[in-house]
Amino acid sequence: MRNLDLAAAIELAERRFAEAHPASRTHIERAGGFLPGGNTRTVIHVRPFPVVVERSDGASLHDVDGHRYRDFLGEYTAGLFGHSDPVIKQAVRDALDKGWVHGAHIREESALAEALTARFPSLDLVRFCNSGTEANLMAIVTARVFTGREKVMVFEGGYHGGVLKYGDGPAPTNAPFPIVMGAYNDAEGAAALIAEHGDDLAAVLVEPMQGAAGCIPGDPDFLEALREACTARGVLLIFDEVMTSRLGGGGLQAALGVTPDLTTLGKYIGGGLPLGAFGGRADVMRLYDPSDPKALGHAGTFNNNQLSMAAGAAAMTQVYTPETAERLSGEGEAFRARLNERAAAADVPVQVTGRGSMMSVHFTRAPIRSVADARGAPDGAAHLFHHEMLARGLYCADRGMINLSLPMTSEDLDAFAAAFGDFLEEHAPLLRSAAKR
Ligand code: PLP
Repeated sequence: MRNLDLAAAIELAERRFAEAHPASRTHIERAGGFLPGGNTRTVIHVRPFPVVVERSDGASLHDVDGHRYRDFLGEYTAGLFGHSDPVIKQAVRDALDKGWVHGAHIREESALAEALTARFPSLDLVRFCNSGTEANLMAIVTARVFTGREKVMVFEGGYHGGVLKYGDGPAPTNAPFPIVMGAYNDAEGAAALIAEHGDDLAAVLVEPMQGAAGCIPGDPDFLEALREACTARGVLLIFDEVMTSRLGGGGLQAALGVTPDLTTLGKYIGGGLPLGAFGGRADVMRLYDPSDPKALGHAGTFNNNQLSMAAGAAAMTQVYTPETAERLSGEGEAFRARLNERAAAADVPVQVTGRGSMMSVHFTRAPIRSVADARGAPDGAAHLFHHEMLARGLYCADRGMINLSLPMTSEDLDAFAAAFGDFLEEHAPLLRSAAKR
């Protein structure tokens, strides 16, 4: 291992993975006859082929090849509750007994709405949909109607859903909104763009910590500058808290003391079932009050589906209370510090960025304040890390993302920290020589 370069180490890791996962390979190859590349969700495709999961429990995944992994992906933050939370399970069982396609109002939708509006400072009123993508689409079109303006400002590296991707500039499959692109964490530049486009700008859409770009926290000064500039020009500030709302009792907005006009939610708020939400200022959200003859329509067959509503209401009122959110955030901070201490001790160009229970490994020493900084890492290093951790029984994202979940024990955290240290030690020379900076 010590003499390998990055490409050779990746090849070896992929070969070892392929040998240990024949059933996953067979499944993916057969699926390729019906799904393009055997895949229906791009982010979970991994070279040479992905793990196929048979079942999961607690904080573990079990694949079709008989391996068990400690689950440090946490379904890209939607898996906050792990895989067998008893309260959520019971809520879903009770919901199944009641029937699940009513086509009518149900009690749980207002119970969940009450919990969310009590918790997140910006949410006077909220509406449900089926995903984070849909929540952001709805927030954007709401802002455009409310302001009578066309453009939306987003940031390099931003990810707001399957049709709202700005990692490498706007994706060709994006919804065709006219976009103004800002640089993340550039307060002055963003304020100047908002001033320049103010008359045409409906909304500024921002993640208070960029998730998909690599858990890059937004500077409080940057987010405050957005708040001020939006207020000055009558632009609606939308915080995409689809991931980050888990990072404290009142989301990241409460932790940072910056209140947007609209907030979008998703991932874990349905207790692990499909759900999205958008909400915010009462004067904006009242556009959707159907008792007003001029109200805007907001349709969605499954907006208040019984299973997601019941699971979400139980999850947000009984399981992920604001106190639990604060506790998990504290544990995440301590865990990230521990990983960074290991990286420093190994003297390798590796750092773990993030906040609370969400973090990302970057293979560079340079400070990371934007996706451009994150690109300073050598190509393939995160992929090697993914495979090396899999081989040690730990599942995290191919791009290096790590998310803690509620059922994790100190044994899980110790196992990850030990494997992380082991990986760094084994590959230190390779990581040093591959580093760009
Ligand atoms: N916004 C952010 C910040 C996200 O990370 C994601 C998903 O990863 C989304 C929106 C889209 O959510 P969904 O996958 O539920 O459509």
